[in-house]
Amino acid sequence: MKIEYVELRQLSVPLREPFHTPHGTVSNKKLTLVSLWSDGLRGTAESVALSAPSYTGETQESVWHILKDFIAPALVGAEFADPSDFQKLFAWVRGNPMALAAAECAVWDLICRAQGISLHAALGGTRTRIPAGRSIGMNTPDMLEQIRRLMDQNYHKIKVKITPGSDEAILAAIRREFGDGLPLMADANSAYAGAASLASLDRFKLMMIEQPLAWNDLLLHADLQRQMQTPICLDESITSLHDATLAIRLQACRIINLKIGRVGGLATARAIHDLCHKHGIPVWCGGMFELGIGRAFNLAISSLPGFTLPGDTCPTETTFDCDIITNPLTIDKDGCMPVPTGPGSGVEPDEDMIASLTERKIRF
Ligand code: MG
Repeated sequence: MKIEYVELRQLSVPLREPFHTPHGTVSNKKLTLVSLWSDGLRGTAESVALSAPSYTGETQESVWHILKDFIAPALVGAEFADPSDFQKLFAWVRGNPMALAAAECAVWDLICRAQGISLHAALGGTRTRIPAGRSIGMNTPDMLEQIRRLMDQNYHKIKVKITPGSDEAILAAIRREFGDGLPLMADANSAYAGAASLASLDRFKLMMIEQPLAWNDLLLHADLQRQMQTPICLDESITSLHDATLAIRLQACRIINLKIGRVGGLATARAIHDLCHKHGIPVWCGGMFELGIGRAFNLAISSLPGFTLPGDTCPTETTFDCDIITNPLTIDKDGCMPVPTGPGSGVEPDEDMIASLTERKIRF
C-alpha cells in the first residue's frame, strides 16, 4: 500500500471542566490529527501530547514540528506491506514517541481498513467489551457525588490524584463514604520525593498506587515496592520495551499503565503487553484526554488478554461537550464499552466537527 497524501490538523477542544493534576491544570485540549490516504481509503489517528511538557517532554507544538518537518514528508509515497514497516522507516528518529505514535496508528488504521479487518482483530484482541474506569482530577469540589454517580453507572474503577499532604484526607473521605469494597486507585504523577509517607497509604487498600516517584527513577520505585504492600503501577517511567523489561527485572512495579502514545505506537504497546503477560504483570490502558478516535484505539489495545485491570477509558462525553466521530463510543448498563468491530479503528471522523475545531492544517 502506497501513501498518496498526508494531512495534519491541529484541533483545540475545551474540556467541560478544568482537570487538575499534580502536573498542572488542563482546561483546553489541543490535539494533532494525522490522516493518510491510499486508494480512496483514509486512516486517521490522534496525537495525545499535552500542551505543556509536564507529563512527558513532548508538547503539541513539538508534535506538530516533528510530524510536519520529518514524518509527514517521509510518509508521502512510502509503501507499507504491514504496519510493522513503520518502525523500520522511522527507526532513525530519536525520542518523540507521541508524534511517532500518531502517524503509526494512522498507518494501522489505513492498512486494517484496506484489509477489511478491525484493529482489535489485527492486534490479536480477545475481549469484546472493556470495563470502563474514570480518573477524577484534584480539587474536584463534588468528588464524592461524582464517585457515587459513577458507581451507579457500574464503573469498574475510580482513580483519584494524590499529592503529599492531600493524600490521607482524600483517601480517608472516599473509604469512609464507600467502604473498602470500592475499586479505588491513586495516581501521584511523581509528586513524592521519597518513600517516607507512602507506606502508610497501605491501610487504604488501594488497587494500586500509580507513579509515586520520579519518572526516571526505577531503582527508587523498586526500593519502595519492597516496603509497600500496595502494588506500584508505573506510567511515566515506561516509554519503551526496554523500560518495561528493566522495571520487571528490578521489580520496580507489579502493574503497568500502558498508553499507546507514551510508548511510540501500537507495535511497541503490543510488545510491552506480551512481555508483561509472560511475566504475570497486569496492564491497563490510561487516558490522555483523547477524543473519540483516540479512545477507539485505546479500546482496541485494551482487548488484548493481558489487560486484566480496568483502565481510564470511558465515553468522550464525560470530558468534552463534542466529539470528532459520527458513531460515538458507548457504555452499557454493566459499565463496559463495546470494542468497535468495523474496519480499522471502527470509528468514522466527523468532518464538519473536525473542520470547526481546526486551528491549523497542512497537506503533503
Ligand atoms: Mg498516570
